[in-house]
Amino acid sequence: MEAITHNLVAVIIQIFCFQYILFPLNIIFTIIFAYISHLFVDALSKMTYHTPDVHKDDKFWVVWHVIIYSASLLSIVILIIPYWLGILFANIIDVWDWFILRPLKKTKVKSGADPNWGQKWYLHKHADWVSDNFFGWLPNWRHKYFGIITEVVIIIFLSIMIIIIF
Ligand SMILES: [Zn+2]
Repeated sequence: MEAITHNLVAVIIQIFCFQYILFPLNIIFTIIFAYISHLFVDALSKMTYHTPDVHKDDKFWVVWHVIIYSASLLSIVILIIPYWLGILFANIIDVWDWFILRPLKKTKVKSGADPNWGQKWYLHKHADWVSDNFFGWLPNWRHKYFGIITEVVIIIFLSIMIIIIF
C-alpha cells in the first residue's frame, strides 16, 4: 500500500493506544501494533493498483503516482506532530526494504556479490506470509487501473474514522 494508507492506520492505532492504555504501555503498543499493521495493510494491497516495478512510459501510472506520492507527503506533513511514533513504525518495513536494503544490495551486486544477496533480510517476506496465509482469496488487481479505486475508498474510510474518533 501507499505511505498515506499506512500513515492513516498508524494515526488510528496511536489515538486508540493513547486513549485507552497507560504510559509506558501506550508507547510500546503503538510501536507493536503500528509495525504489525504494515503486514496486514500490505496484504490488502493485492486489491490495489500496485505494480512491483516503475512504469515511466505509462501515463496512468505516472499521474497516479504523482497524486498518491503528493498525498502521502502531505499526510506526513499534517500528521507527523503528534503521530510520528505510529507513522515511523507503520512505515519502517518500507524504509528498511526500499531505502536501506535495496540500495545496499545494488552496490553489493555491482561489486560482484551474489544477485540474491540479502534476500533473507527483507521484512516484506512477513507481509507476503500474512498475504498468502490469510488473504489468498482476495482478487489480484495489482496491474488493474481500477485498483486505485480500492485504495481511494480505503483512504476515505480511514480519514472518516479518524475524524470520528479524534
Ligand atoms: Zn510495504
